[in-house]
Amino acid sequence: MPKTSAIPGFYKLPINERVDKLKAFADLTDQDVALLRTSGALDFSIADHMIENVVGTFPLPLGIATNFRINGQDYLVPMALEEPSVVAAASNAARIAREGGGFTATATDSIMIGQIQVTDLPDLVKAKAAVLGHKRNLIDLANAQDPALVKAGGGAKDLQVRQLKTTMGPMLVLHLLVDCRDAMGANAVNTMCETLTPLVQELTNGRVYLRILSNLAELRRAHAEAVFPKSALGGEDAVDGILKAYAFAQADPFRCATHNKGIMNGVDAVLIATGQDFRAVEAGAHTYAATRKGGYQSLTHYERTPGGDLRGSIELPLAVGLVGGAVRTHPVAQLSVKILGVKTARELAQVAASVGLAQNLAALRALSQEGIQKGHMQLHARNVAIAAGAKGDEVDRIAEQMVAEKRVRFDRAQELLTKLREA
Ligand code: NAD
Repeated sequence: MPKTSAIPGFYKLPINERVDKLKAFADLTDQDVALLRTSGALDFSIADHMIENVVGTFPLPLGIATNFRINGQDYLVPMALEEPSVVAAASNAARIAREGGGFTATATDSIMIGQIQVTDLPDLVKAKAAVLGHKRNLIDLANAQDPALVKAGGGAKDLQVRQLKTTMGPMLVLHLLVDCRDAMGANAVNTMCETLTPLVQELTNGRVYLRILSNLAELRRAHAEAVFPKSALGGEDAVDGILKAYAFAQADPFRCATHNKGIMNGVDAVLIATGQDFRAVEAGAHTYAATRKGGYQSLTHYERTPGGDLRGSIELPLAVGLVGGAVRTHPVAQLSVKILGVKTARELAQVAASVGLAQNLAALRALSQEGIQKGHMQLHARNVAIAAGAKGDEVDRIAEQMVAEKRVRFDRAQELLTKLREA
């Protein structure tokens, strides 16, 4: 029987039973399960080699979003983050998308752009012609640095030259286009760019300064779309509300910043769980949103289908990898990749894009209907109760009381805790 990510009531199960379901879905071993249950799963000896000046580790909750069906395949999606209601919202939107057949996602090849800045040029036109005339040698030289990438079918594919006017005079900027396959690619691309320095200086008679990849990975995009049936959204009015919320974001950067932040709530949580460089993706996503059509725009797009349902889509640069970076060193990141069952960086990008769309749909639906505070505060109330010192059963009792009173506040949680303990 095909495995299903639609597990009704997953959120109501105790942690142990959730883990049992996950174990069966993702064929986890007892060792994997033991790792999930270890809140200090990142060993100090590994942590100490990951960054500098290590004094500890910083655990985050790892949740599982249910209901995702992408390109006909079911996924349970690991999400690591501190914010309540994100995992629930993603699961809920994925359930609605599932009723419309699930997500369809694609991704481009893993082309990253490496930049080489050339300044102090005596003759810009000649320099540009010299670089383009030696394009093949430069590409071959870059590829000689990374036989493993070339063997995996990737490597430098093209070289472009741009001319920039800057406050420090005119410059040439070379763009080395590198197919990074299953790597995020920053190290691979930076190494290639650094290697080209002597030849570029010789060809241009200029001086090379910066050699580093661009996080505006506009050639490495993922696209996802889904039809959200109006019946599952709450009728025609609900579709209207979402379209108006979308129109608001398109017309106003103040709203659009928050709209795109909501998308990244989902994308980042998947990226953190799988050990990706989420800052790289954040930088790329927002710059893409700002440069694609001029002003800062939504990363998602919505329209009504002829039948009155809602079609949503998302497109954003997604530089992710399964080779290199933390994904290979962090045991929980490896486990998240196993849970997802993704085999390529492209597939991971498709999942992350689908989660971004689901997250955005859920936010727009909640905002245009009851507002997000009701659902959010219910979940947030537990955090407030914990912060006030509640333990075990006390957490839910105090949270429920605060929600019922519509007074989800730290001081109220303290009062309730004192009363409860006195009783
Ligand atoms: P990496 O160098 O560890 O791994 C990539 C290498 O793996 C390739 O160069 C290739 O030699 C090899 N490889 C083997 N099989 C492969 C396959 N199937 N597909 C692709 N490569 C294969 O890591 P990376 O991905 O080059 O760099 C990622 C790291 O760089 C991240 O940790 C990121 O945080 C960091 N970083 C980011 C920036 C930035 O975003 N601006 C800058 C510097 C460093």
